[in-house]
Amino acid sequence: MKKISFLAIYLIFSHFVWSQNTSNQPKIEYFLSMEQPQTHYFDVVIKLSNFDAKTKQQGFLDLKMAVWTPGSYLIREYAKNIESVSVTSGTSNVKSDKINKNTWRVRLLPTSNEAIVKYKVYANELSVRTSFIDDSHGYLNPASVFMYVNDWKQVPSTINIKPYKEWNTISTGLKPLGDNTFEAENLDILIDSPIEIGTQKVLSFDLKGIPHKIAMYGDVKFDEAKVSNDIKKVCESALSVVGEHPCKDYTFLIHNIGLGGGGLEHLNSTTCQTSRMVYSNDKMYQGFMSLIAHEYFHLWNVKRIRPKALGPFDYENENYTHLLWFSEGCTSFYQNYILRRANMMTPEEYLNAYATEINTIENQPGNKVQSVAESSWDAWIKYYRPNENSRNSTVSYYDKGAVLGGVLNLAILQATKGSKNLDDVMKVLYQEYYKKQGRGFSDEEFQKTVELVAEKSMSDFFQKYISGTETIPYNTYFEAVGMKMTDKNAENTFPYLGADCRTGLKISSVLRDSPAYNDGLNVGDEILQIDGTKPEELTKLISNKKIGDVIEVKVRRDGLEKKYNVTLQRNPIKSLSIEPLENQTSEQKELYKKWLFL
Ligand SMILES: [Zn+2]
Repeated sequence: MKKISFLAIYLIFSHFVWSQNTSNQPKIEYFLSMEQPQTHYFDVVIKLSNFDAKTKQQGFLDLKMAVWTPGSYLIREYAKNIESVSVTSGTSNVKSDKINKNTWRVRLLPTSNEAIVKYKVYANELSVRTSFIDDSHGYLNPASVFMYVNDWKQVPSTINIKPYKEWNTISTGLKPLGDNTFEAENLDILIDSPIEIGTQKVLSFDLKGIPHKIAMYGDVKFDEAKVSNDIKKVCESALSVVGEHPCKDYTFLIHNIGLGGGGLEHLNSTTCQTSRMVYSNDKMYQGFMSLIAHEYFHLWNVKRIRPKALGPFDYENENYTHLLWFSEGCTSFYQNYILRRANMMTPEEYLNAYATEINTIENQPGNKVQSVAESSWDAWIKYYRPNENSRNSTVSYYDKGAVLGGVLNLAILQATKGSKNLDDVMKVLYQEYYKKQGRGFSDEEFQKTVELVAEKSMSDFFQKYISGTETIPYNTYFEAVGMKMTDKNAENTFPYLGADCRTGLKISSVLRDSPAYNDGLNVGDEILQIDGTKPEELTKLISNKKIGDVIEVKVRRDGLEKKYNVTLQRNPIKSLSIEPLENQTSEQKELYKKWLFL
């Protein structure tokens, strides 16, 4: 009885509130067209109407372009591709001034309750972070196409799309309203819903009642049933980590192109770029499935399980967090772990891939300079803006985060005797911060959650390997599962210069503390002679020398010739592999099985 009367009151009240809101709420309608796709332009019209009291009182509206897009931590200045902005109201022109790099201030007419904003967007960069249109298809990353009203971020909008001529398919995670019109509940959802327009093939499958679509752009032949089944297997395996799916539907936008790769995660969709060759090469296909696993797993980790800084977003400035190593790196850890548990990667393949990741960071001098927390924070100015010294001064939060994800997983397995693993950290973060509190977590809350699951203090671990740059004692963790990491190069006596030439004899990288670094060679130097003769190939020449040999290197730098004496050292590059321990105990064997889902 009590419940019913409460519900009745609620319904009357909520209807009343809803009606009130609708009548007073401003309206945003986007109209997108593409009359000349070969010129790489989208045409946008935004109809703004039903102004609220605040807007009427101030007499203007600020329209903005985002400067970056969530998931890709670089200021991209999308306003640079906007042109021919004009504003009208009825038959009158409305004055608009650009007041900074990404803001147009539209001066409203006192008597009018609407403004029509028109502009063109140049879209000729086919990446997952940008927008593109040519005579074969159109792709929009909404952050780079749609202006938004700064004061109306919570206002829902409609997006009406007029595709070019015979283009008959629109694929997006936005809610369809019919007649090529879609709805975005608010600005965050609009920005987070890329759109593919063209003649793409659309496959579909159902996962636990949730419809999934795979929109395939690109002239490529593949086995539709196999690809669809394999992607479904990946999704099923990814779902088993958190165990609960928050989406009503999910859309994969896949660009099959000549060269390129990568993906960008969104709330209920993703855009992935892959080579057309992946369907005819097993190894590349496994890499593609690994990409699918990565992007799909993001629907939990980063889109919902997220640090405080990563939503709601500030689209005009950098959004800083120390936790990209977790949001991105641990997603990279899961991309292979998900394939392993789906049996789409053998234990050997999984171990080899993990050893490769460890090799990457352990052979990077920057791993001893920059912590993974700093790498996360400075993504905007370092990871996304690398230079010739990046290997010496930085570490990738993807690579090291993936390694740390693996180590944390082992640490939890070890501490809980196999009853828990990193999945439990994901589950707790999802339930506590996303579902219960509806917010992101702080650095401290994240560490506390790991400690809660591991049932022990992890402060030493966080201090040394996450905020610090100490070498991870891998074998402490591998021992628990009966494995060990060995360096196949430990005994080598190969001579080493420490300078690489990507093409020809021009130095493209010089590693910190190498002979080349210490004795004066620079990136950009063109090697003319070594010990008086022109070398055909640098690596070959060095391999014929001995440790301690002094070589005379003549280079051209800034148009001048210079000579340097360089003393060759022993090659310090590690070749790490993960191998079984002899005489494994039954506990180690049991934990190994739990670790790799055997
Ligand atoms: Zn990612």
